[in-house]
Formats: sequence, structure tokens, C-alpha cells
Amino acid sequence: MLNPYWVDLHVHTALSPCGELEMGAPEIVDAARKAGIDIIAISDHNSADNFPAISERAEGCPVVLPGIEVQTAEDIHVLAVFPDYAHAAAFQEWLWKRWAKMPPTSNDPDIFGYQTVIDKDDGILRMEDVLLVQGVGYDVDTVVREIRASGGLAILAHIDRPSFSYPSVLGPFPADYPADASELSWRIDSAQAAEWRERYPQMTFIRSSDAHMLDALGRGHCTKMYLEAPTFGEIRLALSGEGGRRVSWPWG
Ligand SMILES: [Zn+2]
Ligand SMILES: [Zn+2]
Repeated sequence: MLNPYWVDLHVHTALSPCGELEMGAPEIVDAARKAGIDIIAISDHNSADNFPAISERAEGCPVVLPGIEVQTAEDIHVLAVFPDYAHAAAFQEWLWKRWAKMPPTSNDPDIFGYQTVIDKDDGILRMEDVLLVQGVGYDVDTVVREIRASGGLAILAHIDRPSFSYPSVLGPFPADYPADASELSWRIDSAQAAEWRERYPQMTFIRSSDAHMLDALGRGHCTKMYLEAPTFGEIRLALSGEGGRRVSWPWG
């Protein structure tokens, strides 16, 4: 039997330099529960290192999936969502390989903000020294291909935005672009959203909070999906419209 679940696949934590320090494990879990969100993906820039903290804290409520918001060589953001931490960590290892050869810029907290790896009680485990908001050295097509080959879902992030989105950097993407979905910002209105749907009739669209602050978590900022259970596999089916699972149009 299919049931409606509220899904937010784009939530930042205190590990993202632009994420507020309030984005800790108990805080995110409490805010998601209060907002009635059933499934979240933790998707910090270029790293899944805070997934364990949020997942352990949530104890399944909400369901927490590991994700990474990849910044490609062209400065395009792509969401990668994985079934479990082992898959995410293996992908992250591939992602950071280029940086091993081509030393990345270090973070300057005074300019960019702190990048804090935490435990489930917000204890500080370490500060990430590599600036996470920089390109990883792979182009967008390579990143999308590798996410999918690694068992993940590849979602073009905030395609309506004037920066760090595929259309803003490279122009319109092909109608049959091999992403699992595209994300639209909750800030756009229903007429703007409808234009995207008309332009890309083959594409599945989701809406996510891209939360950097707790206030951004809410049902009005995410997507309702009809699933048999709140799992990664069911979300995959919904994005591809298989077995009756579906993504409801967020501006419905
Ligand atoms: Zn982004
Ligand atoms: Zn983001």
C-alpha cells in the first residue's frame, strides 16, 4: 500500500561553511520532527562526514539518508543521495581524489565560516580544513555518471537559481539528460515552476529546503512522495515513476 511521505533531500549541517552553527544533530532532528518531515538527506558541500551524527541522533525518525552536494569543476551543484554511508563514503573517496593531486584551498573561518564535524550530541570531533565550497575537478557529466555508477541518485540542484546551477553555468541541459531528477527552489512560485515542467516534460522535479538554518525546514519547502515505505529504494522508484510510486508535483 502506498502512503504519502514528506521528503527533503537537501539539508546542510554545521559542516557547510555557509550552514549556521545551529545546524547541529539534535537541532536538525527536532526541527524535522516538528515540521512533520519523514525523510531527509544530509547533503553538505562535497562531504558526507556529518551524516553519522544526524543519523545516530534521529534513530530512524526521521529517516536520514547520506548525501553530498557536489560542486563540479564548472561550479555546478549536483545532489548525490546514497542508500547507506558505505556507498556515500566510497563515492566521497573518488570525489576527493583530484584534490589529493591538486591541493585544494584551505578554509578561512573568518571569511567562509566554520566547518564542524560533530557527533550526535553536537560534540566537536574536528574542524574540516579543506574549504568545502570549491570545485572538485570533475565536470558535471562525469560527476552524474559516477554518482549513478556508485549506486546513488543524481539530482541537478536548484536549477532555477542564477548561480551554481547547470542552466546558469552551461545553459539548457538536454531533454534526456541522465539525471534522476532536478530540484527547484521553494522560493519560486507555481507559474515559474510550471514553466520548468513544460520545458522538461521527461524530467522528474523535486523541491527541497536547501536548509542552512532550522527555520527553512518545513513541508512547504519539500516534496511529498507516495511510497510503500520510507526507504532509499522506494524514493528511487518514485523518481522514475515505477510500480505506482510517484512524486507529487510540489506546486500542486
Ligand atoms: Zn547549492
Ligand atoms: Zn545546498
